Amino acid sequence: MATEQARKRNANRNSILRALHFDGALQRSALSRACHIRKSSVGSIVDELLGIGIVRETSPGNSRSGLEINPAGPLTAAAYLSTEALTFATVQPDGQIARAEKIAVNPASGQEAILQKLCGGLEKFLAREKVMGLGVAVPGLVDPARGVSLHAANIPNWRNVPVRDYLREKLGIDAVIENEARCQLWSAAWFDRLLAKYTDVLLVVVSRGLVGAILQNGKLLTGNRCAAGEFGHIRVEGTARHCNCGRMNCLETYCGIPALVEEIEKIRPGSVASAGDIARLSRDDPVIPNILDRVMLRLSRVLSGIVAALDPQLILVGSPDREFSEQICPILFRQISDECCGIPGAIPQIVATDSETETALRGAAGIVISKCFHSGRFG
Ligand SMILES: [Zn+2]
Repeated sequence: MATEQARKRNANRNSILRALHFDGALQRSALSRACHIRKSSVGSIVDELLGIGIVRETSPGNSRSGLEINPAGPLTAAAYLSTEALTFATVQPDGQIARAEKIAVNPASGQEAILQKLCGGLEKFLAREKVMGLGVAVPGLVDPARGVSLHAANIPNWRNVPVRDYLREKLGIDAVIENEARCQLWSAAWFDRLLAKYTDVLLVVVSRGLVGAILQNGKLLTGNRCAAGEFGHIRVEGTARHCNCGRMNCLETYCGIPALVEEIEKIRPGSVASAGDIARLSRDDPVIPNILDRVMLRLSRVLSGIVAALDPQLILVGSPDREFSEQICPILFRQISDECCGIPGAIPQIVATDSETETALRGAAGIVISKCFHSGRFG
């Protein structure tokens, strides 16, 4: 009976927190109506949340005050391992990054060296402030249920790395480990509040590699092999290009940022080295959009199959540079529309998201925060 009561209180607490997160400030009476919870239960749960500091009153001390998620409430720690760097941050309950730090990482330095750097950086952050949880975003295949990073094509010998067990042993904290693209998608779903409007979203990230993430029925899709969204290693027709995964002619060897840079360098030598450079050059060099158009067609063909299978409500595009993402959105929209023209109805809107490092960190923290809402445990 006690367990049933606790389960109900947890569910009610989660409903209240989600209503405040997605709908903004609400009075106790409005919360009671919105969440279908008795006023006395709302009062008791709100008192508990005010005590924790995750919720605050808009006019403190007034029983008719609005309530909102407290931006100055408990922080969440996040880390993001990319192929070049490890970034650490503390994230506020509203998604603002309170503090961030970046250290260089040599992906060839080996599993143990990378894990030590991850642990050392986190230790410094955790010593400064108490957090309600820790989220870690890593590239490649990730099994979030076991906290294991299964494989990352762009980090040599990175296989079956038990990141969660390692951090638990060294830091005594149970971290959430998730794939970088799924974190980026969750950042948009949770902090940009897409979840208030959409349940089915496809994220496409054009970076050093190509990766996607899928939100289905409001939940991140992991897949049977933890490989949902890994379309960058689909083989395409081409000129025998080697991929870091060890195979030939993977899609990302033609449409990733390094491939795009190479294509542009053939025509404009010494002009670009990154997504940001491409975006800037594209503003006043009419040749660049043509190259983007040609290169993106391979990606659009693969994405069309995914769009046809998932029929999402919205497609998000991410990259290391927001302007670059914005430039490729209309190209992808036109090309995917063409490819899918036999399917009745228009394809969904395609919009850009913020840069990948920030969204990966915010998303890793957002997953932790949504889990804390669910469990009622705030550190
Ligand atoms: Zn590959």
